[in-house]
Amino acid sequence: TSQYAGRRVTVAGLGVSGVPAARALRGLGALVTVVNGSDGERQRAEAAELEALGITVRLGDGVTLPEGTELVVTTPGWKPTSPLFEAAAQAGVPVVGDVEVAWRLSAEQDRPAAPWLAVTGTNGKTTTVRMLAAILEAAGLRTAAVGNIGVSLFDVILGEREYDVLAVELSSYQLHWAPSLRAHSATVLNLAPDHLDWHGSMEAYAADKGRVYEGNQVACVYNVADPATEELVRAADVAEGCRAIGFTLGTPGPSQLGLVDDILVDRAFVPDRQRQAQELAEISDLASPAPHNIANALAAAALARAYGVPPAAVRDGLRAFRPEAHRIEHVATVDGVDFVDDSKATNTHAAQASLAAYEPVVWIAGGLAKGATFDELVSASASRLRGAVLIGADRALIRDALARHAPQVPVVDLDRTDTGAMSAAVQAAVGLAEPGDTVLLAPACASMDMFTNYNKRGEAFADAVRALAPGRAAHE
Ligand code: ADP
Repeated sequence: TSQYAGRRVTVAGLGVSGVPAARALRGLGALVTVVNGSDGERQRAEAAELEALGITVRLGDGVTLPEGTELVVTTPGWKPTSPLFEAAAQAGVPVVGDVEVAWRLSAEQDRPAAPWLAVTGTNGKTTTVRMLAAILEAAGLRTAAVGNIGVSLFDVILGEREYDVLAVELSSYQLHWAPSLRAHSATVLNLAPDHLDWHGSMEAYAADKGRVYEGNQVACVYNVADPATEELVRAADVAEGCRAIGFTLGTPGPSQLGLVDDILVDRAFVPDRQRQAQELAEISDLASPAPHNIANALAAAALARAYGVPPAAVRDGLRAFRPEAHRIEHVATVDGVDFVDDSKATNTHAAQASLAAYEPVVWIAGGLAKGATFDELVSASASRLRGAVLIGADRALIRDALARHAPQVPVVDLDRTDTGAMSAAVQAAVGLAEPGDTVLLAPACASMDMFTNYNKRGEAFADAVRALAPGRAAHE
């Protein structure tokens, strides 16, 4: 029987993390109570579904620790400073995350646990995990991309299907609460300020990301262009023989993967005596040749190579990979102006990467800043900007940064946070753009002030673009 059978477990949070965790724990015989602060229509529907399985659900404000709780399982929505965790600490009740539970469950199954190839970082996680899964599949391995999108870890670990290896996306939140996780190999793709309101400081955020390297068996993959990621590797306690492997957009050194001309090459996983680089793929094998996508591909390739995947499968997998919606997605060309949806650029680091790929560019930005500052993004991008259109709650922060670092750039501040503002923003952008320009939605902010999520924001942008000139738009 499971270590969770008969135990009183409190799950903090519903949604994509809480519901599968509660269901899995109940299925293993735990006595589960779910607590959730908000009490809307969606929460009530989820609660009804769980109650039918014999799970107790408590909705509404003033969440307290249920009597008799032996373990708290938390989900990403809960800040470490939540009163619930203080109450748990005082009562001597351990708190772990959903990923920690999944990891422990994988060890208690009858069959051997599939090793994890883990991906974290501020940006590029989903893309890299999906590239990695495509490569592993091309190698004929039984695998799944698990994490924020697609399959839940619990379904994979407790389900009927057997897996050779998993490509796992992990957020800093999940890593914070996953102390016993030990990946086969892992990468921190990059580190930039994000979610600081949750973690409290950049140091705390970096330390949580760095947890992904703890106990790695074969390789810790870092970004040569982002020395903070290499420092996290150095700070980690890893298995004997585990190697530090870098990826770079430049010529790779020994123990690195990188670019030579337009070819992705591997100098890390080549037989000892054969010192020269192993060719993996060409840039033209990638659906999007944007620099950050090449970096993601190299990181995915490094993890796959660490697992022993041959070079030809890396190429086949990268060729088969198609990017997700709202990630630098070309929507249409109208009157010579390209419209690109990067609604997923929810922080400044991501927006800076996508702005770097276009010139001249009319930039649509704004939303919830999550404590970020915009000076670096604006000064790095100023010379490419034809103009900027601002929407959303924290747009004044961007407007002020533009005034400081790009005073020559025309700015339309829409002063709106309603859903219809996106259509007005697109029209304002059309007013600023000239043929040959790109209008880029790269908000550098979260969407929740105006939309349910970044998908809805991207759809609103695409709808507004299509409404511009139904007859004239050259759709992709
Ligand atoms: P995540 O899962 O980490 O949010 P995604 O793969 O969904 O990452 O990409 C999110 C956004 O981040 C993309 O829309 C793109 O603008 C940007 N991005 C992707 N990869 C990188 C990278 N390696 N460096 C910087 N920005 C990136």
